[in-house]
Amino acid sequence: MRTTGYAALDAASPLARFDFERRGLRPNDVAFEVLYCGICHSDLHQARNDWGWSEYPMVPGHEIVGRVTQVGAAVTRYREGDHVAVGCMVDSCRSCDQCRKGEEQLCREGNTQTYNGRDRITCEATQGGYSKHMVVREEFALRVPDGLDLSRTAPLLCAGITTYSPMRTWNVVPGSRVGVVGLGGLGHMAVKIAAGMGADVTVLSRTRDKEGDALSLGANRLLASSDEEAMAQAANSLDLIIDTVPVKHDVTPYLPLLDIDGTLVLVGQIGPLAEPSTVPLLLGRRRIAGSPIGGIAETQEMLDFCAAKNILPDCEMIRMDEINHAFERMEKADVRYRFVIDMATLDQPADAA
Ligand code: NAP
Ligand code: ZN
Ligand code: ZN
Repeated sequence: MRTTGYAALDAASPLARFDFERRGLRPNDVAFEVLYCGICHSDLHQARNDWGWSEYPMVPGHEIVGRVTQVGAAVTRYREGDHVAVGCMVDSCRSCDQCRKGEEQLCREGNTQTYNGRDRITCEATQGGYSKHMVVREEFALRVPDGLDLSRTAPLLCAGITTYSPMRTWNVVPGSRVGVVGLGGLGHMAVKIAAGMGADVTVLSRTRDKEGDALSLGANRLLASSDEEAMAQAANSLDLIIDTVPVKHDVTPYLPLLDIDGTLVLVGQIGPLAEPSTVPLLLGRRRIAGSPIGGIAETQEMLDFCAAKNILPDCEMIRMDEINHAFERMEKADVRYRFVIDMATLDQPADAA
């Protein structure tokens, strides 16, 4: 299938219009028209080759919502016209112990990433949602619950599940004390989801600038990590910290905020951290952990949870040709709180907007 989108052609150039071929429909595939695609900080990392494994040309985008246009002969779950969503993975081995229990993100063979991955059958490069059309195995397409605002659903597919999953793993229940480090795309979803689960939520931001936002998103308080006195007063006050910071940083100042047996879960930085002190780990039997996205069943559970609680991201809609400016703003943490591309703008001249 011939389609078009925006691609990174190398690690240094701006994204540019790119026509390319998608695989034809296999019996288990659904084809869909992309309506909206969220912009994750991972898109920026991968376009710039921050993690060292980027292949070009690369069409980023793994927060995708669309309308089914065609289904393969063996597809049972979807039909033309259905609204579907795709997140960070489009396939896995589907037979290892992790896949069998619905943890495809932890597939022993590695899951197939939505973009910057390789198709398991043809080995061709996978390409993401900054494009007009997608083709995906039906098992990796999520059902968009009725009533969810489509224009604000896309960010749930990465920012939503990446923060929901650790809250389920570490058993957040009403009254749990949850800290969120970094109030960006992932961070603001973490606040909304934790509040939706009945947790007491503390935002840990670098300054107090986002205090008003944090409270209106559902947090109980904001602590500026630069305020040493406030940080010291908050010692032992949290059960779980979700750390969304996208760059190398020192987690040591956050560890004493955890109560005994508390856990700091890294979901942001992929790569080295500044060396943490083990003192707060040993003395408080605290832990540092990590968590990648979530499984397909859990992603559906998250979508249904968000639909039931009316939890949706705060989005700034952009045109496809504004992507490079959006990347620049994201790098400066100047986004409140998720950019979403209106894919209809791909074919519209700028002055028609
Ligand atoms: P984002 O929207 O840019 O938000 C990041 C937030 O981190 C910023 O709003 C800022 O919050 C804080 N921050 C930024 N630069 C910082 C710095 N130099 N030092 C300390 N704090 C800083 O990014 P995002 O889309 O939420 O993604 C966050 C990270 O998660 C990225 O690295 C992304 O690759 C990763 N990610 C991982 C997974 C996974 O599966 N684990 C999934 C998706 C994304 P304040 O202004 O409040 O301090
Ligand atoms: Zn992402
Ligand atoms: Zn597997």
